[in-house]
Amino acid sequence: MLTIAISKGRIYEEAMPLLAVADIIPTVDPEKSRKLILPTSRDDVQLLVIRAADVPTYVEYGAADLGIAGKDVLVEYGAADLYEPLDLGIAKCRLMTAARVGDNLAGKRMRVATKYVKTAQRYFANKGMQVEVIKLYGSMELAPLVGLADCIVDLVDTGNTLRANGMEPRDLIMNVSSRLIVNKAAMKMKHQAVSEFIRQLRLIVSSAVIETG
Ligand code: AMP
Repeated sequence: MLTIAISKGRIYEEAMPLLAVADIIPTVDPEKSRKLILPTSRDDVQLLVIRAADVPTYVEYGAADLGIAGKDVLVEYGAADLYEPLDLGIAKCRLMTAARVGDNLAGKRMRVATKYVKTAQRYFANKGMQVEVIKLYGSMELAPLVGLADCIVDLVDTGNTLRANGMEPRDLIMNVSSRLIVNKAAMKMKHQAVSEFIRQLRLIVSSAVIETG
């Protein structure tokens, strides 16, 4: 049995068509069911649909053999004990700093609101900037509007969320896409099944790239 942990939401939506090509189709809709372990059309594969930030934990500890998570989450988690063999090229976006339109933050000791505390601290430290990082769990865009922070670090796709809140993207921290991650022990103990799955997914991803240009 292969157990694959997948982030809820956009990553799940975009990963399902790729997995379907490998004949992996959940037999239960996670939106409609309270089941946490989803059986699939393949007897040898089950899915765990969990919060993005938990995916590396399940895979690192071997509760899942494989996982699909955003690069943002993997960098923030900082797992040394995982393989990351494949960029799936889905759920693409950018991790950016953002501030209120027109705000001049030059030379200011900023307060930065984000759920990416470690990544933000590392980014500003590398730029030689001393900042105070405030941990939030969601709706980062709110923080500068009510004076909680001067800027935020968050994912940006179309920029619509920032625009709707009078904010603008500033600096790019990293480009983000979803990655396949693999538990190191599973790579050894279930070598044939795991490497066959990676090989299949690699083929599917490269033909998806050709189809969409
Ligand atoms: P947008 O308004 O299109 O720029 O999207 C920004 C909002 O969607 C923010 O709340 C982000 O946290 C979220 N978001 C954007 N891209 C992704 C992604 N690939 N995965 C998860 N959340 C995302």
